[in-house]
Amino acid sequence: MKPVPKSERLKNVHYEIRGPVLAQARQLEAEGHHIIKLNLGNPGAFGFTAPQRIRQDMADHLSEASGYSDSKGFIAVREAIQQMLAGRQITGVTPDDIYVGNGVSELIMVAMQALLNPGDQVLIPAPDYPLWTAAVAFSGGMPVHYLCDEQSGWLPDLEDMRARITPRTRALVIINPNNPTGALYPVSLLRDLVELARTHELIIFADEIYDQLIYDGASHTSVAALSNDVPTVTFCGLSKNYLACGYRAGWMAISGLAGVGRQCMRGYIDGLNVISSMRLCSNVPGQYAILGALKSGNSMAQALVAPGGRLFGQREQAVTQLNAIEGVSCVKPKAAFYLFVRLDPAWYPVKNDTRFVLDLLLQEHVLLVQGSGFNWPRPDHFRLVFLPPVDELHEAITRIARFLGRNRGRVVV
Ligand code: PLP
Repeated sequence: MKPVPKSERLKNVHYEIRGPVLAQARQLEAEGHHIIKLNLGNPGAFGFTAPQRIRQDMADHLSEASGYSDSKGFIAVREAIQQMLAGRQITGVTPDDIYVGNGVSELIMVAMQALLNPGDQVLIPAPDYPLWTAAVAFSGGMPVHYLCDEQSGWLPDLEDMRARITPRTRALVIINPNNPTGALYPVSLLRDLVELARTHELIIFADEIYDQLIYDGASHTSVAALSNDVPTVTFCGLSKNYLACGYRAGWMAISGLAGVGRQCMRGYIDGLNVISSMRLCSNVPGQYAILGALKSGNSMAQALVAPGGRLFGQREQAVTQLNAIEGVSCVKPKAAFYLFVRLDPAWYPVKNDTRFVLDLLLQEHVLLVQGSGFNWPRPDHFRLVFLPPVDELHEAITRIARFLGRNRGRVVV
């Protein structure tokens, strides 16, 4: 048999979070080493579990969950999502405008595949959650990265974004709260982004999967709540807010269809419906989990991010300890559970950040993800997940500091 290459469509598709460095970590584990993994935003791996009432709801309904549902999800589930959205001032959404998926990941793929023709451009933040870039590339589109500014707490640079808009730009991706930076966008900035989308007739894709994990009493505003005439697809789900990644339960909702919007979007919505039908439906137990989750508030998430809560404490530990290392700095995140950490090139002249995280893994058995894995254009950042308990985080960052101490001034190529 001839060699079987991967498809051409995968040529520019990368997802480094689960890339070759992770493969090396697995190899070390197979050899009996313990690796401290700060690479994946998977709360279940760090002792977090979904709230009892969600688990119970899913378990209680298992006997009714053997069949397919409507391809967009059970109507009761979509009605519950509609109500929740209305509570967040996202109005004009009908259950028909809502799609339940096997996590937001599946829906990002659906949303991009239904939209893009070869050469169509999509504005995506840098750094980004790299599935967005991968999904655009896989769908034949061209990811165009706009810079987020570390000096301003990692907010998008509007001028940079404007400069990158061309006649081929179809859409604008907003990840708020952001992975990997933990930035939370102020309402004034969101209004500017809506105006930009309105002016250039762009669809907004708003990934808001961390919208309930907000620190310091701040609040999150959905960009979809700020207009009724700019087509906006909002993504959310149980993975992070409800610590239930494994349930693979997420949704997307189309809003901003007032006026001629619904008419204009008809072709795209047809496309979404075709792809949604082709995957039959999302997993049905996960849909019951969504029903359970949306019945009442999310007190568990609130407790985790409040002073005294586990995520709050872990954030304090990680930020303080990292910022105390010479030549290392990180912006304190306002949301989620990631840090996008800067290595001052004057101290650490890293030219190849994959090599850098690989060396750290081999020497100190700590696993991070290199900044370039998030489409950051320079090799001077890494992402750290602060989900482990404080003791483990302390140990991991102590090892990172030791490694950096040994490699100060070394050019990593
Ligand atoms: N969007 C962002 C910004 C994420 O960080 C993640 C996972 O880390 C996802 C989407 C994927 O979420 P899901 O588990 O719902 O597929």
